[in-house]
Amino acid sequence: MDRVKESTDQMVMAVCPACGSRHCQLQATARKTGVVVGGMLGALIASGFSSATAGAVNGAIIASALSRRLPATVTGAIGVAIIGFVCGTIAGHAIGAEIDMNILGMYQCRSCGFEFKA
Ligand SMILES: [Zn+2]
Repeated sequence: MDRVKESTDQMVMAVCPACGSRHCQLQATARKTGVVVGGMLGALIASGFSSATAGAVNGAIIASALSRRLPATVTGAIGVAIIGFVCGTIAGHAIGAEIDMNILGMYQCRSCGFEFKA
């Protein structure tokens, strides 16, 4: 997933001040953080909507892990959390991309490895 996104990031035009190469890539510091934090928050928020059953689900997950059978309510709650996680990673990546471009603005030259602020 990240591989596809980072390949599009290579389209960003920046010239390396050290060697003059145009093969410079925007650093993905905030994006990587945003994906992780956004994903976790998204999963928490999404599963929070079914917080009434959360305690029961946690118990059921442990029980089903032991019995290797997943009740429909548990798979549903996990599905909600996964959807929240995916939405969170997308949002986190979008916010992180803004931070990377407008606040951090750190590029790395792919020819010589020089890091610079655009
Ligand atoms: Zn360079």
